[in-house]
This record gives sequence, C-alpha cells and structure tokens, in this order.
Amino acid sequence: MKKKYKVTYDRESCIGAASCTIFSNKFKMAKDGKADFIGSKEEDEEFFVLEIDEHEFKEILESARSCPVNVIHIYDLETNKKII
Ligand code: SF4
Repeated sequence: MKKKYKVTYDRESCIGAASCTIFSNKFKMAKDGKADFIGSKEEDEEFFVLEIDEHEFKEILESARSCPVNVIHIYDLETNKKII
C-alpha cells in the first residue's frame, strides 16, 4: 500500500505512560521504561521516523492522541501538513 503519512516519535521525551501501546502494536514498552517504535528509523538521536499507509493510520493516530506528552506526530506526506 502507498505510504501516505510520516510519523515522528521523540523517544527522548517519552515518559513511559504506555498508553500508545494500547492502540497500536507498533509501540512496545522497552526495558528502559520508554516505548520503542517498531520498524522506525532513528533519524536523529532518540528521534524516530516511519512512513505508514492508510491502513496503519487510525491506530497510530489513537496512539498519538493518547500520549500525555505529545511526542508522537503525524504528517501528510503529500502536503507536509501536520495532522497531530
Ligand atoms: S504514550 Fe507517549 S509517553 Fe507514553 S509511552 Fe507512549 S510515547 Fe511514551
């Protein structure tokens, strides 16, 4: 499926609330108490990026919405507009 969105995850600012893991299996708690973003690429130190398709969008949107410190963001790849 065509990648439509870019998801960014600022792992450094994660406080380990774990709510993101409830909505998407792309987020899993790691031993250091922070979430890992499965399949993503580390673009900068503790800053991860993954392009996703429409199919994955809803779950990750819920993860992003649930994060109390807003460290998960989603951008539309075509327009570069920030969705959350
Ligand atoms: S919800 Fe946010 S703070 Fe909590 S584990 Fe996920 S990314 Fe980290």
